Amino acid sequence: MKEEEKLGSVKRFGARYGRKTKLKFSKVEYEQRRLHKCPYCSKTAVKRVAVGIWHCRKCNAKFAGKAYSVSKKVLAKEVEEVAEEPETVKEEAEEQVLEEA
Ligand SMILES: [Zn+2]
Repeated sequence: MKEEEKLGSVKRFGARYGRKTKLKFSKVEYEQRRLHKCPYCSKTAVKRVAVGIWHCRKCNAKFAGKAYSVSKKVLAKEVEEVAEEPETVKEEAEEQVLEEA
């Protein structure tokens, strides 16, 4: 995927706010806007009405979910992939070992 394609809706911000921030935000916003699978009728026809409120166009079910996604897992995983620098975590772990010894 080209960088430009990844940005998608975030292009509206132009050159502002920084690349990493916008990449993370674009993932969240994509998840928020896309059609989700309905937990009741299993059709992919669920849209977000408001924060945490989801509505299925197929079976007309209105229910509570996460703020930007119907379920927890999908979004958390995707955002983690964009998140950076595992090195910081490594350094902290090493320091802890030294303190124990
Ligand atoms: Zn449904």
